[in-house]
Formats: sequence, C-alpha cells, structure tokens
Amino acid sequence: MTCREIAQFLMQYTDGELPWRPRAMFNLHLTMCSACRRYLTSYELTVELARLSRTPDDEPVPASAPEELVRAILASRPGNP
Ligand SMILES: [Zn+2]
Repeated sequence: MTCREIAQFLMQYTDGELPWRPRAMFNLHLTMCSACRRYLTSYELTVELARLSRTPDDEPVPASAPEELVRAILASRPGNP
C-alpha cells in the first residue's frame, strides 16, 4: 500500500468501515511509515476537534478530553468570546 492509498483509506479506517484485508495493509504501512502515522494522528485530531466543537457552549467539555485538546478547541472557535 502506498502513502497515496493510505490517504484514500483514511476516512474509512477511522470510521471503522475498512475491511480486515486493507486494514491489515494499512496498519502494516503505518508501522513502517512515520509520515503516515503523523498524518493519521493529525486527521484523528481534526475529526475530534470537529466533533467537540459541535458541542453546545453550555455543555461542559467532557472530562476525558485532554487539556491540550481542550485548549486547541477553544483557540479554534473564532468569534466566540
Ligand atoms: Zn506512508
């Protein structure tokens, strides 16, 4: 599997919809390719940020959210006081 294919499969992979065979190839590539590991990490962070930023402001941020992530979310809310 190439880095380009990793990018194509990334969404299915993070959604848990990737069948076992390409997933195995995906995981194998990740163990060998630090660039794609970083890419996956930043992709997952983006997805998490998008999910949490949809949380209404009067709802508390989940206690399980890491401090660093919470700060990143707050910083990514333009226009919010
Ligand atoms: Zn790669």
